[in-house]
Amino acid sequence: MKKTIYLDNNATTKVDPMAVEAMLPLFSQQFGNPSSIHSFGDQVGAKLKVARRKVADLIGALHESEVIFTSCATESTTTAIYSALKVHADRKEVITTTVEHPATLDLCEHLEREGYTIHRLKVNKKGQLDLQEYSSLLSDKVALVTVMWANNETGTLFPILEMAKLAKEKGVMFHTDAVQAVGKIPLDVQDSGIDMLSFSGHKLHAPKGIGALYVRRGVRYRPLLRGGHQERGRRAGTENSASIVAFGMAAEQAELHLETMAGKIKILRDKLEKGILEQVPHAFVTGDPDNRVANTCNIAFEYVEGEAILMLLNQQGVAASSGSACTSGSLEPSHVMQAMQIPFTAAHGTIRFSLSRYTTEKEIDKVIAVVPAIIERLRAFSPYWKDGKPLDIEAFEPAVA
Ligand code: PLP
Repeated sequence: MKKTIYLDNNATTKVDPMAVEAMLPLFSQQFGNPSSIHSFGDQVGAKLKVARRKVADLIGALHESEVIFTSCATESTTTAIYSALKVHADRKEVITTTVEHPATLDLCEHLEREGYTIHRLKVNKKGQLDLQEYSSLLSDKVALVTVMWANNETGTLFPILEMAKLAKEKGVMFHTDAVQAVGKIPLDVQDSGIDMLSFSGHKLHAPKGIGALYVRRGVRYRPLLRGGHQERGRRAGTENSASIVAFGMAAEQAELHLETMAGKIKILRDKLEKGILEQVPHAFVTGDPDNRVANTCNIAFEYVEGEAILMLLNQQGVAASSGSACTSGSLEPSHVMQAMQIPFTAAHGTIRFSLSRYTTEKEIDKVIAVVPAIIERLRAFSPYWKDGKPLDIEAFEPAVA
């Protein structure tokens, strides 16, 4: 079988072999319930404590008790939002953005149907927010600001520290979905004004099914899952001990590799981008090229369909993505591309390449070599393309509308 080049690390990552090794004993000898008061329980409890410290270190949390383990980032974000709404039962407004992950967007839509006012901050063509608009919305009617740190499709970073500071000044609780930022940029939540932060193990080389919610000490909090006293009563249910231990190891490794992200991975990502754009006309990078995580590159190929590109890439042994994993499968351009007002002839042909520390230069060279021919082949069938150049799109608009 042809070796596949995996460039879909924003969807999920390969588990670090050291994380696999760390978790294995918890399926055999160390199977105790960490809540049990005997040696089996103690043994696992001690391992969870170490893992919690490592995960806390990755985001710069002072106290390890500020980390609550969950099943995934979706659960963390849901918990954070409901917690804020319960704590501030008299406040009926939430501020978020138009480009959040569905974990936030769908819940906010649901809340809107229940009578909450949701303010969705718009982005400009580069995916950037207007901080003045944001500041003008902060008031004592707002229960929570929930804004992602890095966008999963484009990698664009939002000015979270500045936004958290502004929220704090107005006495508004601040949560960030940092799923695509943790392990990619150095984070230090301490003294940041961030009250809650969600992240997920499987985006940083831990297994799937383990997430975390940081809740700053002193922040008022209400659990989503009630029952047992696990996680100091803040998230009931027997801990996923093996995955937590693996998460701890993955977090430690992610911290050690932060420089790899800023160095090797960025160099490879830039090489990929340059290599493609030099050879393929009518293609451009979406989002903010100067302010994004180092592993992500989202290219819009005009006049072709993203799904078709993905299929041909897959035939060449290259795994990438068109939009987020959760929304791919739909033929609508992603909500992120729509929010950035990418023209429809380009928004349909966006491909996200997301690298990891396991990506090699040889792989990048191979992708640079196959992409131009794929785009040329597809453009030959495109109704918008003739004789090596785009047709006059204006003529098509009424028919497409
Ligand atoms: N938020 C962002 C920005 C994501 O990229 C993802 C996953 O793609 C999630 C939330 C959801 O994470 P999980 O799969 O751990 O629930």
